[in-house]
Amino acid sequence: MENTFKPSCMICTYGAPVLRKKSMRITAFDAALSELAHSMLERMYGAHGVGLAAPQIGELIQLVVIDLQQAGENELVFQDGRSLPISLVQPLYLVNPSYTPIQDLQVEYEEGCLSLPNVRGKVKRFFEIVCTYQDLEGNAHKLQCKDWLSCCIQHECDHLNGVLFIDHLSKAERNEQRELLKEIQAFGGQFDYATLTETEA
Ligand SMILES: [Zn+2]
Repeated sequence: MENTFKPSCMICTYGAPVLRKKSMRITAFDAALSELAHSMLERMYGAHGVGLAAPQIGELIQLVVIDLQQAGENELVFQDGRSLPISLVQPLYLVNPSYTPIQDLQVEYEEGCLSLPNVRGKVKRFFEIVCTYQDLEGNAHKLQCKDWLSCCIQHECDHLNGVLFIDHLSKAERNEQRELLKEIQAFGGQFDYATLTETEA
């Protein structure tokens, strides 16, 4: 079927109830899932993001897309026991993802989120994880990764549980963002990144 629908860059933003709900496991690995995943990726690129979880476009299903793009080109990951450059596993489509830390070490990065425009905050996450997930055909995979990709997967998995990165901030840090959060809530629960010019995004 020809699809003439041009995806917008509409993203659910802070205040939208869907961002606080738990997502359901995906059981149907069909063309509709694949179409949705690809439109999510387009929307993510359009909004200049590096990761997007299905609840951020209003779908309460366990689906995540990630593409760090230029970041960590030389870094290696282990996918299903094979060592690969990070660029070869991206874009990543993660269906029903979950993760386990493989060491206690944590790192702190300043994070942002397409659902929280302009909000930034330092979040501590596990440096290295093994992520278990399925691809769009339903095949099971294991991805062992470090550093920013590891943090990004943890951020996106949080979305599937209704958790936002601001939930990890200290009370003082979150207070600092209070006015900005109110402004975002005034968007009414969604924001179209397509309305931004290149320089604003
Ligand atoms: Zn996010």
